Amino acid sequence: MAYQALYRVWRPQRFDDMIGQEVITRTLKNAITTNQISHAYLFAGPRGTGKTSAAKIFAKAINCHHQQDGEPCNECDTCKAITDGTLNDVIEIDAASNNGVEEIRDIRDKVKYAPTVADYKVYIIDEVHMLSTGAFNALLKTLEEPPANVIFILATTEPHKIPATIISRTQRFDFKRIAANDSYQRMIYILDQKKVTYDEQAIKVIAKAAEGGMRDALSILDQALSFGDNEITLDNALLVTGSVTHELLATYVQQVLSGDTKAALATLQSVLEAGKDAERFTEDVISYARDLLLYQQAPQLVEGAEMGSVSDDFQALAKKTPAQTMYAMINELNAIQQQMRFTTHPDVYLEILTIKLAEIGRQNGAAPVATAVPATPNAEAPSAPQPAAESSDVTELQHEIDQLRSAVKHLEQAPSTAKAAAAPAKPRVTKSAPAKEVNLAKIYPVLGSATREKLNQLQEVWPDLLNSLSITQRAVMKVSQPVAAANSGVIVAFDYSFLYQRATTDHELTDALENGLDRMIGTALPVVFVPKEDWPTIRKNYLTAHKAELQANSDTPAEPEKPAENPVVTKAEELFGKDIVNVKAD
Ligand SMILES: [Zn+2]
Repeated sequence: MAYQALYRVWRPQRFDDMIGQEVITRTLKNAITTNQISHAYLFAGPRGTGKTSAAKIFAKAINCHHQQDGEPCNECDTCKAITDGTLNDVIEIDAASNNGVEEIRDIRDKVKYAPTVADYKVYIIDEVHMLSTGAFNALLKTLEEPPANVIFILATTEPHKIPATIISRTQRFDFKRIAANDSYQRMIYILDQKKVTYDEQAIKVIAKAAEGGMRDALSILDQALSFGDNEITLDNALLVTGSVTHELLATYVQQVLSGDTKAALATLQSVLEAGKDAERFTEDVISYARDLLLYQQAPQLVEGAEMGSVSDDFQALAKKTPAQTMYAMINELNAIQQQMRFTTHPDVYLEILTIKLAEIGRQNGAAPVATAVPATPNAEAPSAPQPAAESSDVTELQHEIDQLRSAVKHLEQAPSTAKAAAAPAKPRVTKSAPAKEVNLAKIYPVLGSATREKLNQLQEVWPDLLNSLSITQRAVMKVSQPVAAANSGVIVAFDYSFLYQRATTDHELTDALENGLDRMIGTALPVVFVPKEDWPTIRKNYLTAHKAELQANSDTPAEPEKPAENPVVTKAEELFGKDIVNVKAD
């Protein structure tokens, strides 16, 4: 028999089997037993939180003739057919693959016909936000005049993308992320049933990595299972999730908070060398910093979320780090995480991140220990349980955790947009104004006397030069390269403008480079930086501006053998080599 994925085998078949959505399941069961069924439902929430499972259970329960307390029997032909997906009256549509108007028109045509076998015809439209505008309009027409015995269940991870006209015609249910402890319990249950041995710590790692999605948790569990021989070890769990051990994370955060850039970069190096994913690592650091912040305000919430494993290191760190340092760190992490999405060099960002975080740590290192916790922006904060109070109401705590988390999330987002709005304080190089930031007065003279030969020489020594730098400086220079060189200077381009920014303001770095060049090629060649994205424009502008000059030079008998060639192109090739000169006819 082919192996069946855990999340399929263990997909809930009854409302009571569903994890972490008690309010929703109770309401739906109640609607069924009291026969107060709506024509259209909207199930919104993160992926893997049980939206489609709930939709199918609902479809079964309203059609099952042996329904009890709102639960389907799962034994009758109707129930079985719906479970197998073979009942024609329950139609599942994935809007992600069918976003055309045609499919919805098809629904409109067929919706008129009464169900053939079941009592109710149920349309389950998954990822409904993916529908095209035309399809939404067609769907709206159907929802405006709903035929009897037809129920629509619209499921989505992005409810804000659904037109308000549609939402207003549905009964909305918001599915919550599943608490790590709930998915932990569920996995333990499944593993016990399967008689698989496991390390509890490993299951905790998986529960946390799944970030509130039960389906994700089970998929990761599946992978971890396929690694080990009927057992789940911590090593395998860490390997599959790409997570960094808590100790290593604690070490890293401790190092950046104490401003020890060198040690933090070394830790980062070993994390990356162990094959950890850069984005995953950032995610882990964010969640660690967020937990530190949360711990200062309400320790029992973190203890609950961490399933009781809060280390001494963590507690000490939470005690001595001012909240504003943590906020600054989270902002920085969040900004870098955004930038990392669009890069093929996430490692470079991590190094810069480390330097920035250590700077934050250094700046705030002298700050006094936070004694008073700043008021949370959450309006409901005053009702938050006091740390001393022994609250046994886990659900309430969970609710508080969710609120605090989303408050922190808002804080994470708000300052970064505010920063973007108040940009003038910290100028950035943008595409629209390339030349503004760049020092043309230094660049043009180099271009004027640049030679291919000199550039070759620089490119040859460049890797050695970078190796001679400090670990911090090397992190900044890692993706730089010399693009033009003369006896009067060298122009160095950067792949990322934030690295360019960083380099231009770092005079120690410039000194180190020039001293290094002095040792390697015998001259302390002045170094000028440019962002790579601006380089073609700068070069082109230079060539255009000096066209006449170049023309004149090439008319001299110095180069009589190439009279027919375009002198500008010749000059460009001389400067940059044939491989990088593209001649565009204009
Ligand atoms: Zn049944």
